[in-house]
Amino acid sequence: MTRRLAALGIFAAAFALALACAAMRSYAGAMESAADQSVGHPNPAAWPDNALSIATLGHATLLMNYLGVRVLTDPSLFDRVGLAFDSIFTIGPRRVTPPPLAPGELQNLDVILITHAHMDHLDIPSLKRLPKSATVIACDKCSELITPLGFTDVRELKWGESTEIKGLTVRAMAAKHWGKRWPPFGGAYGFNSYVLEKNGVRMLLACDSAATEVFAALASDPPEVAAFSIGAYDPWIRNHANPEQVWAMFQQTGAKYLLPIHWGTFKLSKEPMDEPLSRLIRAAGDQSNRIVLRQIGGTWQLPENDMVRALAAGESSPHAASSPAR
Ligand SMILES: [Zn+2]
Ligand SMILES: [Zn+2]
Repeated sequence: MTRRLAALGIFAAAFALALACAAMRSYAGAMESAADQSVGHPNPAAWPDNALSIATLGHATLLMNYLGVRVLTDPSLFDRVGLAFDSIFTIGPRRVTPPPLAPGELQNLDVILITHAHMDHLDIPSLKRLPKSATVIACDKCSELITPLGFTDVRELKWGESTEIKGLTVRAMAAKHWGKRWPPFGGAYGFNSYVLEKNGVRMLLACDSAATEVFAALASDPPEVAAFSIGAYDPWIRNHANPEQVWAMFQQTGAKYLLPIHWGTFKLSKEPMDEPLSRLIRAAGDQSNRIVLRQIGGTWQLPENDMVRALAAGESSPHAASSPAR
């Protein structure tokens, strides 16, 4: 009986998702072009281990060499995100820009970060194709989705908790979002933003979030770079900030560079595909040069003078070195 109910639930969820996708397509019309349609092809093998290099692989997926630690965030590497049936097919929005790298090019990873269990962030087919030797750091309760895929080191973090891998500290913090994977069925999973730090070089990876002042807490020891989701605000403004709100949140963090994610890849909402980035650039006005990585597949490296300053601050910090609880 319970099984039959679960099957019914999955069927209903699939049906609801299919309907929602059809509705999205009908009002979206033809796919609008992204701000920059050319897709780059990152070459992570060439990235030095003494720098912070970051490439956008589309949507919320970032590939990084974080001073020698290879990190991948919220991997979605295939044509669609949504309800996956044993990696054979997936019901959900289709990719507008091709993935810059294939899973086979992503086998050298130390850490996979999962912010939350929404289909466009915790994508089972992508995780299945990634190396099981990688440590997965995920939100509360998310290991029940990830461990069965074969990963042996899955670490759940609640807000305020932290862990360390190869000298990279990862601390979970809040956002204004939500965590149900199967609405309206099933329980809620956690949802995490992450503050990353190695040798004093800090970065914020914000979870999808509505406008909130929670990130202002970082300003006393600001990150070098902050990644924020900038799309899916129309009509989902209660859970996703619009570009002007993102610019305000970014400024509150005190970070020097803003790295926009969650744009130009999957059609999840009503706003035109190229609107989030162009609105963000407008909101930034004469400071728009602080917005980095505007091309999917593009690569950015923290400039050397910023790296030197961050490392020096890290060395002189009383709680630097090996304090994973920072
Ligand atoms: Zn989400
Ligand atoms: Zn999302």
